[in-house]
Amino acid sequence: PPHPLPQLPALPPAARIGDALADVDTPALLLELDAFERNLAKMQAAADAAGMALRPHAKAHKCPSISLAQIERGAVGICCQKVSEALPFVAAGVRDIHVSNEIVAPAKAALLARLALQARFSVCVDDQQQVELLAAATAEAGSRLDLFIEINIGQDRCGVSDVAAVQRLLERIAPRAQLRFAGLQAYQGSIQHLRGHAERRLAAARAAERTAEVVAALARAGVPCPVVTGGGSGSVEFDLASGVYTEVQPGSYVFMDGDYGRNEYAGTLRFEHALFLATTVISSGGGERTIIDAGLKSLAVDSGLPEVWGAPLDYVAASDEHGTLRPREATAARAPLGTQILLVPGHCDPTLNLHDELIAYRGGIVEAIWPIAARGLSR
Ligand code: PLP
Ligand code: MN
Repeated sequence: PPHPLPQLPALPPAARIGDALADVDTPALLLELDAFERNLAKMQAAADAAGMALRPHAKAHKCPSISLAQIERGAVGICCQKVSEALPFVAAGVRDIHVSNEIVAPAKAALLARLALQARFSVCVDDQQQVELLAAATAEAGSRLDLFIEINIGQDRCGVSDVAAVQRLLERIAPRAQLRFAGLQAYQGSIQHLRGHAERRLAAARAAERTAEVVAALARAGVPCPVVTGGGSGSVEFDLASGVYTEVQPGSYVFMDGDYGRNEYAGTLRFEHALFLATTVISSGGGERTIIDAGLKSLAVDSGLPEVWGAPLDYVAASDEHGTLRPREATAARAPLGTQILLVPGHCDPTLNLHDELIAYRGGIVEAIWPIAARGLSR
């Protein structure tokens, strides 16, 4: 062409190591390292004190650097919710992954069976069709898989509902040399965000009781359950003390999102906010409004709007790329254009899935930039 196109400028990074937090280009997802490290240490210490295995869920962060930090502190491995989600974790060196979910597609079973040649993998089943699929895929790949039979302890999502169904599945698993019954998965998601501490304790006790009944019935039939896995950030303090679980799989505790922050904690297992979204005031709008550069494309709002961190402002409305803030008191001074505002996201898991990287900082200085490598891997 007669007039060559001018070279496009490259998109500058949101931040570089050593930058001041105030200079980060927004919206950007931040990890406050001191709080994050205290969260990891606190959960590991609680699991160690209870003599239980900690297998943190990676669906909360999708970030291999976080899993490696947990394993370095004593976690036995990780959970993933999807087979594809596990790929970047295997690539980063994680060697023990539980897929805490059921799969029925042959392509997924084939991928899982091949991944099981690289790392120890387990997966949940609640139907004989899944067992047959996994038997065929592992036979084809020449690999082995540990199977967890998922039981429904009240969430009414996946899982079988009685001991007879567990035994029917055991009969299907037993003849397959490449499949091993590893134990039960008993996860009750609907109790995690019950606000009252006593209410949550009671609900967790009921879930643990249902789990214990199944374990006892299997023991009477001569079937030991090597591992009983389950629990989330809202129930973990009760799960650790239940005497039923041998392994817990909390995920969100690393960040303590806004939704978990609204739970009441009476015991010691309360975690600190470590995840923030950095945003910038882009318009003073009119009236009392302050408009920032982050809405639905930077933040999940399914569990409530974000909280404004350290300023008497409320985030009152989210559109795609804008957030509307209002002062809590009408007489408050206005934040000038360019002011950096930190938000605490309401729900960490889907928020992380919107971002490519996590900007880790300490004392106001960027210390590391961690890829959210499993972002978007939902298959
Ligand atoms: N285990 C399973 C099976 C889950 O589905 C979840 C979350 O939904 C968790 C563990 C972790 O829960 P949380 O991130 O709330 O700690
Ligand atoms: Mn969640």
